[in-house]
Amino acid sequence: MKYVSTRGQAPILGFDDVLLAGLARDGGLYVPQSWPTFSAADIRALRGLPYDQLAARVMAPFVAGSVCEAALPGLVKDAYAGFTHPAIAPLKQIGHNQWVCELFHGPTLAFKDYALQLVGRLFDHVLTARGERVMIVGATSGDTGSAAIEACRDRKAVDILILHPKGRTSDVQRRQMTTILSDNVRNLAVEGTFDDCQDIVKALFNDLAFRDELRLSAVNSINWARVMAQVAYYFAAAVALGAPDVTVSFSVPTGNFGNVFAGYVAKKMGLPIDKLVVGSNRNDILTRFFEGGVMKADGVVPTLSPSMDIQVSSNFERLMFDSLGGDGPAVEKLMNDFRAHGAVAMPQGAWAMMRTLFEGHRFDDDQTLALMKSLYHSTGEILDPHSAIGAGAGLKAKLAATSPMVALATAHPAKFPDAVTKATGIHPPLPPHLADLFERPERYETIAADVGAIREAVRAFANRKTS
Ligand SMILES: *Cc1c(COP(=O)(O)O)cnc(C)c1O
Repeated sequence: MKYVSTRGQAPILGFDDVLLAGLARDGGLYVPQSWPTFSAADIRALRGLPYDQLAARVMAPFVAGSVCEAALPGLVKDAYAGFTHPAIAPLKQIGHNQWVCELFHGPTLAFKDYALQLVGRLFDHVLTARGERVMIVGATSGDTGSAAIEACRDRKAVDILILHPKGRTSDVQRRQMTTILSDNVRNLAVEGTFDDCQDIVKALFNDLAFRDELRLSAVNSINWARVMAQVAYYFAAAVALGAPDVTVSFSVPTGNFGNVFAGYVAKKMGLPIDKLVVGSNRNDILTRFFEGGVMKADGVVPTLSPSMDIQVSSNFERLMFDSLGGDGPAVEKLMNDFRAHGAVAMPQGAWAMMRTLFEGHRFDDDQTLALMKSLYHSTGEILDPHSAIGAGAGLKAKLAATSPMVALATAHPAKFPDAVTKATGIHPPLPPHLADLFERPERYETIAADVGAIREAVRAFANRKTS
């Protein structure tokens, strides 16, 4: 499988190079040159397979020709071995033709584990084959950092250093990062905001000499391998509900558009999907887009669903590229217009095509709490604020009553105990593997929001004496 950039100017690469590159050199995102397809018989053959085997089959075409090809089934099996539900991504029925797919049974209790646990292993595999090593550097406001650290903690060819804004993540989120004491993991608590952290990481990556010296790398949500891993649970859920003989819809709480884009990929591969319903909080750029065809940025407001407090959804560029027939220069022009004016209209044909598949619904914090409460009272299901927005969007979507709607639940309720307690009166306990999180020793270094100081801390970590 070969990959092209959405801006059409970067070299065409194979899977291994796309994995390590993250962003393309022309500023675009990598996408497969063509979509692999599964026939109805291929999809039927997935029935009854354990999750890891199903996932390996769905992902196989994307790694064809890569050094990961033969190793993939083993890497996938290992990636999900530590998950705490035997079904990995279990379905629960919450109403007539209404389902929840729980994607929070990984080590950090958020759906990001489903991709990152595999991506960490893929990095190790490719780097070891090449005799190379990288330093992953990232900034987090909470969820991504802990999932990335958990994915890299026991890897041989990867170091990871994560910046978080000191005192501005929840205690659970911080402790999920700072209690990982592996030699290849470091946490910096930056005296500043999340934006400061992000700006500093950008500055480190833009310092090309430094970037090459330490072989800096990233596992952010634009990495193709993350999207690829997420395609698997769309197949698993649809097949469990009767695909290819049944058509299924999905509703997805959306921030960077990575999760729901994986649903789009599944449809392109031949999975019978009717609708992809996007749920947003008050940061509703996508919902406004699907309503009116104009992408217009607004300031970010904090909400009860912080992992969706995003101004611009980076993975949306992949959908643009596909809807414009793979016209890289057209994508580049639209993205430049957007950067220059803070708004851009999609060509009518592309928008009309998107509208046949996608729709969006928004929920403010009060509506989110009301949803959590009513879902709990009507079904017994306790959902975190992100997952409730996904489920609520599914309930609002107008659908033929005959087709099942699957809401993706993206975080465990115990990750957001304050909101859950407020909505339901129930304090959700942490699952057993994290029950002693507040007794575990923490390790992190407090540091000023200063690029020079942080550059030296990264260098000192890279040059540490390893035992
Ligand atoms: C990251 C995240 C999202 C948003 O997913 P995207 O792929 O960025 O759209 C939703 N819910 C939770 C809990 C998350 O951690």
